[in-house]
Formats: sequence, C-alpha cells, structure tokens
Amino acid sequence: MNIPKNYQVLFLPGGATAQFAMVPINLLETNQNADYIDTGVWSQKAILEAKRYGTINVAATSEKKDGLTVIPPQDKWKLTSDAVYVHYTPNETIDGVEFKWIPDTGDIPKVVDMSSMILSRPMDVSQFGIIYAGAQKNMGQAGITVIIVREDLIKEVPSWVPTLYQYKIEADNHSFYNTPPTFSWYISGLVFAWLKRQGGLAKIYEINQRKAKKLYNYIDEHQGFYKNSIHPDCRSLTNIPFSLQKDKLTDTFLAESAKAGLTNLKGHRLAGGCRASLYNAMPEEGVDKLLEFMHDFARKHG
Ligand SMILES: *Cc1c(COP(=O)(O)O)cnc(C)c1O
Repeated sequence: MNIPKNYQVLFLPGGATAQFAMVPINLLETNQNADYIDTGVWSQKAILEAKRYGTINVAATSEKKDGLTVIPPQDKWKLTSDAVYVHYTPNETIDGVEFKWIPDTGDIPKVVDMSSMILSRPMDVSQFGIIYAGAQKNMGQAGITVIIVREDLIKEVPSWVPTLYQYKIEADNHSFYNTPPTFSWYISGLVFAWLKRQGGLAKIYEINQRKAKKLYNYIDEHQGFYKNSIHPDCRSLTNIPFSLQKDKLTDTFLAESAKAGLTNLKGHRLAGGCRASLYNAMPEEGVDKLLEFMHDFARKHG
C-alpha cells in the first residue's frame, strides 16, 4: 500500500464496529464536531455510534435518481468549516455503492471505513487521516482490525477512555498492550504474502475489475430478468447486489444456486434480493461459474 512513514499501522481487536467508537473518542474533544457522509447501512451505523461521543453533522446522504441510487456530488455536501474530521465509507458492502473519487476536504482529515475494499486496488494512503478495516473481507480471518493512522492524529485522550480504546496506548505498545488476536493476525500475514505473490495490488485490481465488469455486463445485458439499481458511476467493484425482475423467483434462485455450489448469494437481510461479493479470495472462475448458472436459470425461468 506504500504507506508513508508518518503513519502507524495498528492491529487491534473489535472489528470496524469498535472503530465507529474509537474514532470519535480519540479525535473529538469536548464541544468539537465532525462531518459524516451517509451512503448506506455501514455509514449509518458509524453515525449512530459517533453521536454517543460528539456532535455529528450528516453532511450528505445518498439518494435515488431515476430509480437508481447515487452518491451526491461534493458540491451538494454541507460540510462544516470547524469539523475535526470528515468520515465516509468508500465502499458500502450491503448497499453496493462505492466512491470512485476522493472528496476534497482541504486540511480537514478524512477518516474512512475501508472494511470491504482495503487491498482490492492501489490506494494513495497520504490522502487520508485514518483508514480502518476489519480483516474478514480482504485480509483473512475475523477478529483483527487494521487501523492506518497518521501520527499527528494519535493524541492524549481524557482519563475516562478505556485503555484499549486509546490509539496512543496501542501505538506506544505496537498493538501489544494486551494479548492480540494472534491466530487472526497470523492468518492476515499469510494473506499479505499471498497477495504479494499474486503481483500485489496493481495485479489484484486488474483481476477485480475483470470480475466486476463481467457480472455487471451480464446483468445489464439481461435486464428483462436481472437488475442492479445502482447508478453506473457509483457501482461497487466488490459487492454487487442484484434482484430478479420476477421477485418471487428469488428463493428458487438462491436454493438452486446453493445446490450448484454457489453459496452466500443471499442479499443482506436489510437489503433483500441477491448479492455477489467478489472479494480478493473469489477467483475469476467463480464469477464465470456464477454467470453460467445465471444464464441457465434465466433460460429455464424466463
Ligand atoms: C463488515 C463491515 C463492517 C463491520 O465490521 P465488523 O468487523 O463486523 O465490526 C463495517 N463496515 C463495513 C464497510 C463493513 O463491510
């Protein structure tokens, strides 16, 4: 990831959900506020948690335009000039929307939840104040969370803050203040080595783009049967939700696909429908197999 020298990388327990609290606890002092962008389920959870610790301004919310979900362009955002940071979710895992651009927030640091897109492509880390991500999507086993934090954002915090929720203590102790989730950490190490053997981020990005393009193209070419309702400018590279035009066929689709060895295609319970998650671990042949199945299914039930 070419992480610059003025960043620390922490390996902590608690998942991205713990970071929803840790970020405001460590960055917001009394009477300070932060801006959040609401683009879906995960940003909403981050907002809800942050509100327990500070004044949170929701500066923009994704909307529907011509029946398609869109991320509002930055000229529609209502950022506050005294925000301590701006938080957004570059890839919304459940909703399938993704930022194809990096917002311009001037000197105000950007804090991002990259849980479902970290290591899926090259990324300019210097653009961000804090990047955090749970390991279980692209880095291995659940139980460990990676936090890439710019050093000037690692500060003393009030004494009420639990020891394990202080970036400074974790940074001073190299993520070893207490026993870390050793097995998950070890597995992540194996995944990082695997990723390097694949050719690193540039190479995995090529593969990921091919995988996503195939699936989106197929859905778009068969709109009489399948549908993805995200605006093409905001479609996720990784999480591709789709529905069947005949909604009552969804259960049959899921049952038959599972029988064909294509598992976990059920959309998140909050979203319904279907979703294909094309994380780094999903090989291109997996996508080919899904397309074959979708094609047969559409022919049989169309
Ligand atoms: C999965 C996910 C989370 C939740 O992560 P936990 O490790 O379960 O806390 C948060 N944000 C995003 C974007 C996710 O994809």
